Amino acid sequence: MLLDTPINELPRTSARTIQRLQALEIHTYYDLLHYYPSRHDDRSLASPIGSIQAGEKVTISGTIQSLKNNFTKRGFKIQTAKLADDSGSINLVWYNQMYLMRTLQEGMKLAVYGEVEQFGKIKQMKPQEYEIVSDEGERIHTGRLVPIYALTYGISTKTIREKIFWILQNLKEEIDGSEYLPTTILKYAKIIEEPEAIRSIHFPKTSGHMTQAYNRLAFDELFIRLLASRKVKEQWDTQVVSKKFKVTSFESDINTFKKGLPFKLTDAQQRVIDEITKDLQSKKPMNRFLQGDVGSGKTVVAAIAAYIAKLNGMQTLIMAPTEILAQQHYQTLSALFDKTDVTVALHTRSHRTLVDSKGKNAHYDIIVGTQALITKSIAMDHVGLVVIDEQHRFGVKQRAMLKEKGSNPHLLTMTATPIPRTVALTLYSELDLSTIDEMPKGRKLIKTYVINKEKRNDCYVWIQKQIQKHKDQVYVVYPLIDESESETMKTVKAAAKEFEELTKIFKTESVALLHGKIKSKDKETIMGKFKDQTHDILVATSVVEVGVDVRNATIMLIEGAERFGLAQLHQLRGRVGRGDKQSYCFLFTSDGKKSHSRLSYFAKTHNGMKLSEFDLKIRGAGNMYGTEQHGYTDLKLADITNATEVQRAQASVDMFIKEYSITHGTHIKKLLDQYQTNQISRD
Ligand code: ADP
Ligand code: MG
Repeated sequence: MLLDTPINELPRTSARTIQRLQALEIHTYYDLLHYYPSRHDDRSLASPIGSIQAGEKVTISGTIQSLKNNFTKRGFKIQTAKLADDSGSINLVWYNQMYLMRTLQEGMKLAVYGEVEQFGKIKQMKPQEYEIVSDEGERIHTGRLVPIYALTYGISTKTIREKIFWILQNLKEEIDGSEYLPTTILKYAKIIEEPEAIRSIHFPKTSGHMTQAYNRLAFDELFIRLLASRKVKEQWDTQVVSKKFKVTSFESDINTFKKGLPFKLTDAQQRVIDEITKDLQSKKPMNRFLQGDVGSGKTVVAAIAAYIAKLNGMQTLIMAPTEILAQQHYQTLSALFDKTDVTVALHTRSHRTLVDSKGKNAHYDIIVGTQALITKSIAMDHVGLVVIDEQHRFGVKQRAMLKEKGSNPHLLTMTATPIPRTVALTLYSELDLSTIDEMPKGRKLIKTYVINKEKRNDCYVWIQKQIQKHKDQVYVVYPLIDESESETMKTVKAAAKEFEELTKIFKTESVALLHGKIKSKDKETIMGKFKDQTHDILVATSVVEVGVDVRNATIMLIEGAERFGLAQLHQLRGRVGRGDKQSYCFLFTSDGKKSHSRLSYFAKTHNGMKLSEFDLKIRGAGNMYGTEQHGYTDLKLADITNATEVQRAQASVDMFIKEYSITHGTHIKKLLDQYQTNQISRD
């Protein structure tokens, strides 16, 4: 039996439990071992029954002397067992747990954990946990530090605990052989051995052991991630572009294009363009990661890179995560290149301008699209540059597949999610980093207010006035209601209800509704009507989150603001304030004081980097980069903001590579593969 045994082979486990485990992304024994507890309950205090004290939380064990079930007058069922050891006896009491009458028997050895109660002279206990024990067997649920697993999909923590315990016992040999690092590195990084760490993270002897286990497994996450990055980088370093770009000979075209822009580039934009230009002239393909706050002007930077590609006779592919955004890029780029001979096409599921009337692919210099670009049906013959906007929205596999549309094309990935530098270096160490750290001049700060229930109506009245007086336009954004990453019907329904209500409040204004379940064609129509100011108010689920650019929209109203991370709120707020009109952002909350400090920090802070650092501090790295928003689920324990830890893992990777090859040993190979598959399956 091996650790990669599928989880459905777990003995004595119901189909329902298996299903629920699978829903938790636990597919093998290995996955289950790496499903870590969220905390431990200290049940190690054990006493002879004769010496327990009232109020004490304690583990006791003994033999069941008698067992009975009583019915109360009100129809409750009470199960009572008398438990005795050499020092004395006590009554154990449960309510409505009839199955115990089948599970327990007189004469059985039982250990229980709970609080001791006293009524007059009589002591009793309502056990919080019980387990049937034998003299030789190790305890699982009582008398020790007991792991508590975040309860999900209805599997009890007790069940998970038992299954993990079973694997630890029955796959002992394989676990014993799971160390994959040389002793030199264990010593250098001051970490314990893998087998011990895996055991102690679940069933530690002391809290000290628990901490050591935690440190080791957190180290593993960083180590593998960094090693994987290094592997990608090494592969990347051997690649050569199909055609080296020239820039100097096209200097005048590029300058003419820049001069023709409707604005002057900021210093930061110019600096990043210089960095990109330098990369593009190399025979090694560029692999640059561009981050810039929302509204900092990343699109025009990508446009200039695409123009350089065009001047060199090469095509550019630009992939955006949503139809709306792809469409908008298409319009922006078409306008930017209006006076040039650059041709721009749009390719999404509903737009296939790429295919001409004869059904053949016409030649375009820039092809903008969604994931649909990845599909095989479109042949692109000489792709020299690939741009991926809002890159965190795509998985590794999608990015790789798009890149394969060319022969070692240059790659520019962009994101508006500000990532602290140390974090970026860990998460994307294989990439070169560029940052636009300056906003275009003349942008007004977006006035932001937290609005509680009582002020809601005043706020609507004020908004109505703004619309009537200044023709202002408004976004109303609705949060995802279910915890899942994608929009569910529940969210759509909630937004639709909100929409109904708003149409009643804003009787004279035109209100529209936009959500993910609307057909793309209709979405476009709605968006188009908002852009041309037919609609005054657009009620939307967070589909408007990324990149939408409607300059006349100046009011952003966010429902259930407490449900969003600050970085995400910042993205949403960035949808307004795109022109020179004063813009406003209203945060509607329903949880009163609870989220107030977080939201009022947001209201007075306009720097995306500061906000994401704050988020990181209070919500923890796991959350900020957590499953829903960012998908970096491989870091369950590691703290990417801890520079010392990251640096130690980095140095360990250096040591490791110096002595061995990157994929040294079957274990490392397996871990790297696993890492990559996990990344891909997350798409
Ligand atoms: P993001 O970085 O969020 O993708 P965009 O590229 O959509 O930002 O740019 C936001 C807005 O700012 C656009 O309307 C764009 O035309 C404008 N813009 C970009 N660069 C400048 C600049 N240097 N000066 C003034 N406006 C600019
Ligand atoms: Mg953008």
